Amino acid sequence: MRETRPVYSIVAPVYNEEGNVTRLYDEIKRVMDTTGEPWELVLVNDGSRDGSLTEMQAAAEADPRVKIVNFARNFGHQIAVTAGIDYASGRAVILIDADLQDPPEVILEMVERWKAGYEVVYAVRAERKGETWFKRTTARLFYRVIYRITDVSIPLDTGDFRLMDEKVVRVLRSMREHNRFIRGMTSWVGFKQTGVNYVREARTVGETKYPLRKMIRFAWDAVTGFSYFPLQIMIYVSFVLGLLAVLAIPIFSILRLVYGPEFFGGQATTIVLLLLLGSFQLFFLFILGQYVARTYDEARGRPLYVVASTENLPEGSAPEEGLTDERP
Ligand code: UDP
Ligand code: MG
Repeated sequence: MRETRPVYSIVAPVYNEEGNVTRLYDEIKRVMDTTGEPWELVLVNDGSRDGSLTEMQAAAEADPRVKIVNFARNFGHQIAVTAGIDYASGRAVILIDADLQDPPEVILEMVERWKAGYEVVYAVRAERKGETWFKRTTARLFYRVIYRITDVSIPLDTGDFRLMDEKVVRVLRSMREHNRFIRGMTSWVGFKQTGVNYVREARTVGETKYPLRKMIRFAWDAVTGFSYFPLQIMIYVSFVLGLLAVLAIPIFSILRLVYGPEFFGGQATTIVLLLLLGSFQLFFLFILGQYVARTYDEARGRPLYVVASTENLPEGSAPEEGLTDERP
């Protein structure tokens, strides 16, 4: 008998989630079995250094609906999600965190909306539990800034927890940019989108894999990936500086006429201005450099990830990218 194509693919990135994987599987099974339709759970091991893979393998052995994509090293959350999307075969793909901060029950609500005709159903965090004031505040600020400056409208307070129809998934798979901000990319794709509210639970096992450094990088990927705002700042600043320079000439001339040639004498002003200009130029060269770096990334055309092994996945089911074998 041929294996029937699942209706739902649950995709979860896993990085050092020992103790969470089994719970995730149990919860997904409990919730998804109530749909009465075939489903699969695609677990992407993003280079975990703890017992996550063993836990994943135990689940896959007991239940062939559990698929494993095992990365050769840690490639990061967004790349892990990308791999999961690439390998998913369902008619709807649901992205969920492996730490159970996203309650699986919400999937049923998403499924309902999907059946009503929506192609993207994203989960909106009405409340976040058990997270530090700093995390909540920076996250709040982040979503609002992104909302203001990006070209596509990315809904506020949504994470990657969402359901996507295969139509959307097909487009996403064709977007191979290296600096990925998946929630922005799904917004960019379009189709009929809607949100469901949920309460983001506290992490019960393990700790966040998003330290400040990664959060800043993530925010920067979002900004540069979906907005030219950093480049546009240049013109405003250059305008203001130009205006100041134009105003300074008559002002200094008048002051000198009134107070004599000793006023503002010496080279102090020149040096200060030179330093100031140099600092501005370097700052904007840095920004420009960020874009150049991205162009470089794209031009290089490296695969996004290198897969060491897969389990419970048929031969040749992998997408074009990320394969280590079958290349001439
Ligand atoms: N994750 C990953 N690779 C990473 C960092 C995180 O696959 O480099 C996974 C992690 O296992 C979890 C999800 O991405 O399933 C979200 O990470 P986390 O819970 O640490 O983020 P937070 O909820 O604190 O924003
Ligand atoms: Mg989490």
